[in-house]
Amino acid sequence: MRTIEIFDTTLRDGEQSPGVNLSSKEKLEIALQLERLGVNRIEAGFAAASPGDLQSVREIAKRVKNSTIVSLSRARLLDIDKAWEALRDAESACLHTFLATSPIHRKYKLNMTKEQVIENAVAAVKHGKKYFDMVEFSCEDGSRTEIPFLIEVVQAVVDAGARIINIPDTVGYTTPAEYANIFTQLLNNVRGIENVKLSCHCHDDLGMAVANTLAAIQAGVTQVEGTINGIGERAGNAALEEVALALDTRKDFYQATTNLKLEEIARTSKLVSRLTGMFVPGNKAVVGANAFAHQSGIHQDGVLKEVTTYEIIRPERVGFKSNRLVLGKLSGRHAFKDKLIELGYQLSQEELDDAFARFKDLCDRKKDVSDEDIVALVDAKLVDVPEAYTLENVQLSYGNNSIPTASVRVRTLNGEVLEEAACGNGSVDSIYKAIDRVTNEEVVLEDYKIVSVTHGKDALGEVYVRLSQGDYTVQGRGVSTDVLEASAKAYLRALNKLVARRGDAVEVVM
Ligand SMILES: [Zn+2]
Repeated sequence: MRTIEIFDTTLRDGEQSPGVNLSSKEKLEIALQLERLGVNRIEAGFAAASPGDLQSVREIAKRVKNSTIVSLSRARLLDIDKAWEALRDAESACLHTFLATSPIHRKYKLNMTKEQVIENAVAAVKHGKKYFDMVEFSCEDGSRTEIPFLIEVVQAVVDAGARIINIPDTVGYTTPAEYANIFTQLLNNVRGIENVKLSCHCHDDLGMAVANTLAAIQAGVTQVEGTINGIGERAGNAALEEVALALDTRKDFYQATTNLKLEEIARTSKLVSRLTGMFVPGNKAVVGANAFAHQSGIHQDGVLKEVTTYEIIRPERVGFKSNRLVLGKLSGRHAFKDKLIELGYQLSQEELDDAFARFKDLCDRKKDVSDEDIVALVDAKLVDVPEAYTLENVQLSYGNNSIPTASVRVRTLNGEVLEEAACGNGSVDSIYKAIDRVTNEEVVLEDYKIVSVTHGKDALGEVYVRLSQGDYTVQGRGVSTDVLEASAKAYLRALNKLVARRGDAVEVVM
């Protein structure tokens, strides 16, 4: 049985999903969960993109102990210096530097000859080796690169000291057989290739990211790159939970395994979905809400008699458990704290006090409080930006034959209380118009989504909004038993991020 190492890029490639914009605290929360899941490497970001990105990679590097922390870096010396600045405190660090190798990228993007590409790649790896023992080199758009040239580049960077060689299918163009052949060619033609790790990185533009990844594993790669829930640029990356479950379920065929704690998958998937606002479709493999639901009578009958007739993965295998009732009105602070620890949170005293107050408040409005409720409650407050505006009060007048009118009262950072009212096309619209007035911000509402956290009429409602101002986009979440209050909170949270980031907007490359 071979062990395949998992390189998670949810925080870098995944965060490049359109509309996703995580705060440092949200990134740290995801990184700590990825560590719990047992991924070998966490690509925490792209340190040279902005001071904020560097800071957030550094924070993750300080806190995560059991996974190697990686920063992406272009093949530029200054980028590599920044990556080192971000990673120097890590228990285990890796530099991931890349340069495009395909004819299209050489000609139109880089304007470089083959010789210049090799020269720059080697210089980057050599510079990286001054700081890092572990250097990964990626041939961007590798799957569309002429194989003889790919062999040449890989030979040069292996000779320069690269320890991991990644061949990304950057544009999601390759097919399983074709992709496998690239790795076979490298294994047969690069001197010393047996001493480096070969890695695959697939995109899902043709829906083949996971199939291509599995083909690469069969061809001999020992590292798989991907994201949780398959989020990422355009159609996304290979979904790591699908790759892991394919290996686990079809051990007989692949003869390979991972070190992932599979029962952490459900929690990781939910956390990423909640914090990114990228919901998992019901029919998504492994982590979709319907992945284990049997609808047809014949199937239900079969599963009741013998579960394996129609079920190849037990839901418990990936950490789905029935929605246990855990806490209620009578639960004390101690029980609440224990529950948070069990759920994987490490809160400061202040955060704990705040979460407990909101938990007590929730108990007044909702009879049974489940794990999911608590997670939503705590995560909704995970913010690391100063709250420029806090919601004090929202009031609404609605009738099916009248124009909805909302009044909103907020408190500013310096304690000032502001109040405004507005009419709108609907209840949410009127609340948002009132908030726009009271905060004097001009924003565009790009997206609005609402979900219920659990089942039942008293379930918590969770609202996600995405706002833009110029070309800067932020998202916000709000949770409440009342969806209008949740809507107001989500909008204000996003606005607070806009206000906080206004001075720090730096263009993100790649
Ligand atoms: Zn990618």
